[in-house]
Amino acid sequence: MAIATMEPRQLQPMLETIDCYDCGGSAATDFILAQDDLTGKPGNFRFVKCDRCGLVYQNPRIALSHIRDYYDDEYIAHRKKSDWGILTWFYNQAMNKHDRQKERLVRRYVQLDKQSNVLDVGCGAGTFLARVRSRTGAHVAGVDFKDLSHLPAFAGMEFHCGLFYEQQLAAASYDLVTMWHFLEHDYDPLRTLDEAKRVLKPNGRLVIEVPRLDSLSFRLYHERWPGLQAPQHTVLYDRAKLLRFVEKAGLQVVDYLPYGAFPPYFYLFAGLAFKWRQGKGIDLSRAIYPYFLGQIVLSPVLLFERYLNLAMQTVVCRRIP
Ligand SMILES: [Zn+2]
Repeated sequence: MAIATMEPRQLQPMLETIDCYDCGGSAATDFILAQDDLTGKPGNFRFVKCDRCGLVYQNPRIALSHIRDYYDDEYIAHRKKSDWGILTWFYNQAMNKHDRQKERLVRRYVQLDKQSNVLDVGCGAGTFLARVRSRTGAHVAGVDFKDLSHLPAFAGMEFHCGLFYEQQLAAASYDLVTMWHFLEHDYDPLRTLDEAKRVLKPNGRLVIEVPRLDSLSFRLYHERWPGLQAPQHTVLYDRAKLLRFVEKAGLQVVDYLPYGAFPPYFYLFAGLAFKWRQGKGIDLSRAIYPYFLGQIVLSPVLLFERYLNLAMQTVVCRRIP
């Protein structure tokens, strides 16, 4: 049955109760009841806060065998570039800018050339990797649990379909591993970080961007915060928890940024739209004009986004020498 036509009670068989990803504790207190505000699919999804360590995570969660259905063709990171009619131009501009920001960010921490190996975990449509390859000559590879290798960006590119930690990639082989908005979707983030450490070269860098729970946009929107992205987001990281996870995995923090490559304006706009729509979902083709108008109005504020802790965070780490 298609998820879009499902009653909330029909979600029950897909759900599984889990223990805390950090401390393994099972005692937790309700934190937020979230809905699928982006696409409006039915259901209430519960985030809890661990009584022992304070981690906020979705519990119960959709079992891994069912979550793929939530990453359907409407999922924004997986959209092809050509199917939005007159919106294509706007969309391409935004995506190109996003990939440019990612490239700029990583090149502050790692020098890339023809000898370099780059891996993007949760690579989506692959446009970031295609950009890195064309700009630096690096060998690039992507992993995603959906097979998107038919998309044009992947032409001639190494692509691994499935869970990252099941890929058996060569140890100590990557100069750069990136996880752009991946770790908050992960069903076993500590195992993922451990695997990233294993595949990094001794002087390689791991760059992780996730939404930031202790940010202004969360305080503004709370149960309609776009960073909840229910039911896909499994863990909500504040600064302390993100740093704790990488350190627990035996990685050394090189830098921490209270921003990322992802535009925080998207969260400011979407949170407002989610509050207005109250769980009924957003029609992206109708939202696009107010979206760009609002971006122009807010542009003086957005100039200072790196200092305002609006929505995102990035941690750069390496193997402990
Ligand atoms: Zn815990």
